[in-house]
Amino acid sequence: MRKKIVAGNWKMNLNKAEAFDLFNRLKQTKFPSNTDVIVFPPSVYLSQMTDSVLNVGAQNCYHQSNGAFTGEISAEMLSSLGVKYCLVGHSERRECFNETNKDLAKKVDALLASNITPIFCFGEKLEERENNKHHQVVLNQLTESLFHLSSDQFSKIVLAYEPVWAIGTGKTASAIQAQEIHLFVRNFIAENKGIDVANSIRILYGGSCKPSNAEELFLCPDIDGGLIGGASLVYDDFIKLIDITSKI
Ligand code: PEP
Repeated sequence: MRKKIVAGNWKMNLNKAEAFDLFNRLKQTKFPSNTDVIVFPPSVYLSQMTDSVLNVGAQNCYHQSNGAFTGEISAEMLSSLGVKYCLVGHSERRECFNETNKDLAKKVDALLASNITPIFCFGEKLEERENNKHHQVVLNQLTESLFHLSSDQFSKIVLAYEPVWAIGTGKTASAIQAQEIHLFVRNFIAENKGIDVANSIRILYGGSCKPSNAEELFLCPDIDGGLIGGASLVYDDFIKLIDITSKI
């Protein structure tokens, strides 16, 4: 039985007052014990958010531990704040900052070395799905960034399938489309990293997930919760998503 996750990616949104207002409301909320809730605020707020009952993660890190890398933040620094999770490979990082599968492999290594759980995002673009290349794209992302890990290391990560055409667009993958990829990925992991790893690894869905479509998605046997963008900025919607997840 895999414990479900509801993770909120705030991206580059919310000024200090807005961020702490949302954070404080979430902090005071009692969450169901069968669901892990994690929020990913902008990194400038992290140091004031980590000593809380609420799980807090970073949206990005750099693979080097220190040095002349102006503007970057290392996994070691995040760890020293008490950060337990970090997103890796979000499609916006791949698109806007040209992060490659090989770059992401280094970030995953740095995070695991600092005992931070990488939440590794992967997913195809619209034209790749339309040209029926989505399975190959997803396999390449996973193999090039993650398959150097031992089975033990692999079991420490969380995956998030986020079809690029569904992120922030209002278009959601249907439950059938999402479940098909999640099962495909889980089978691929079973073949390469063993059945125990495949059965225990949590694979989230992300892409325009909201209270109106979450139940259908989270009922799928291989979808273990959601990575939520826009709806995680609205307290009531995020709470509804947690509630829906916990009742499945
Ligand atoms: C995301 O950014 O990870 C995401 C899923 O965004 P949205 O829910 O807004 O599509």
